[in-house]
Amino acid sequence: MRYENSAEIFEKAKKVIPGGVNSPVRAFGSVNKSYPIFAKKAKGSKIWCEDDNEYIDYICSWGPMILGHNNERVMAGVREAIEDGSSFGLPTKMEVELAELVIKCYPSIEKIRLTTSGTEATMAAVRLARAYTKKNKILKFEGCYHGHSDSLMVKAGSGLLTDGYQDSNGITQGTIKDTLTLPFGRMDLVKELFEKDDDIACIIMEPVPANMGIIETDAEFLKGVRELCTAKNSVLIFDEVISGFRLALGGAQELFGVTPDLTTLGKIIGGGYPVGAFGGKNELMDMIAPVGDVYHAGTLSGNPVSVRAGYETISELLENKDTLYKELKEKVNYITSNIEKISEKHNVPVCINKQGSLFTIFFTDKDEIKTLDDVIETDTEKYAKYFNVMLDSGVVTPPSKYEAHFVSAAHTKDDMDKTLEIMDKAFEEISK
Ligand code: PLP
Repeated sequence: MRYENSAEIFEKAKKVIPGGVNSPVRAFGSVNKSYPIFAKKAKGSKIWCEDDNEYIDYICSWGPMILGHNNERVMAGVREAIEDGSSFGLPTKMEVELAELVIKCYPSIEKIRLTTSGTEATMAAVRLARAYTKKNKILKFEGCYHGHSDSLMVKAGSGLLTDGYQDSNGITQGTIKDTLTLPFGRMDLVKELFEKDDDIACIIMEPVPANMGIIETDAEFLKGVRELCTAKNSVLIFDEVISGFRLALGGAQELFGVTPDLTTLGKIIGGGYPVGAFGGKNELMDMIAPVGDVYHAGTLSGNPVSVRAGYETISELLENKDTLYKELKEKVNYITSNIEKISEKHNVPVCINKQGSLFTIFFTDKDEIKTLDDVIETDTEKYAKYFNVMLDSGVVTPPSKYEAHFVSAAHTKDDMDKTLEIMDKAFEEISK
């Protein structure tokens, strides 16, 4: 593989963009590469870089591309929307149609507000929870990532973990004090905290954590937090920015049968274009301006091009839901069951966590990876070696052990078999 063009662009990029990238994990720093590949175009399960190398893609834009890149139906919708104009500063009919479509898939959502990103959605949901309960603090779980707003940048996952820290600099002590954190899955500690503190406005959680690698959720835990939030007048926010429309059409809440008060969405809801959303019961959502006094706004909120991309994506998922989610799960089962065989063959132990179309390979002797501390202890060097062999052979996997592999409807049996062949090579290298 040649990387000359990407390396050259990165040198220029570093002079004008901090770290050469607009989102930290893209820098490939934690997998021992001195430059990332710069993407040029993508189609289906494939992505091409500025050196014209072709890769099978398991990043999938970190989630939005559940139908694969440049899906024909989504592209046709986007082309039509662009012809009509890019942004109006006025409401559009398609925003209403997207809202109706999402509400059809999420019975817990009676009203929904569109944003421009997942970060804005979680930020607004937290503000709404505080306004509704008249309480100040929030509880989040270690290693869960909810975007980059101040109050959610405490013990966060994703790019922060990749770069070796969990709290961003530049946040006031007051904000940090109001964000309580606990290890994921520890109902005993959650109960203990609520016994001591009755100023907790909400629990915000990824129902299936996917930003410290995948952590398999215990349904009992979700039910436990639901009951506790109801009993203690605290708002339960499911951050389904990744899990929404991915684990099931109705997200993790459908899969586990647990109903949150508020849901945040992103990624798939924009079909690869910038959108986020938050929604829930009327009682809460009617507190949002201009009905109520909880302010939320955005110049590009509900952008017509993004909305159309999201509408077409969700329509496609809805029309094919009976087969599509089953097939995605089967693909992940096929890949991961074969990785287990490869791992045994080369005597390189791994623990694979998976949920629906997401999976993470942890290089570890442990049988279970359940908490952030478990993840931190897994082998970073082996993951980096795995990443590099895969990349050099035409498969792009997450450039961090703290992220998930994303599988799309466009990944074919050929793609998976080629991936497994290269994984065999990668594990052989690791075993040396
Ligand atoms: N919530 C979760 C669970 C996420 O994974 C992310 C992003 O990866 C966000 C929120 C933030 O979304 P965005 O990057 O669109 O701001």
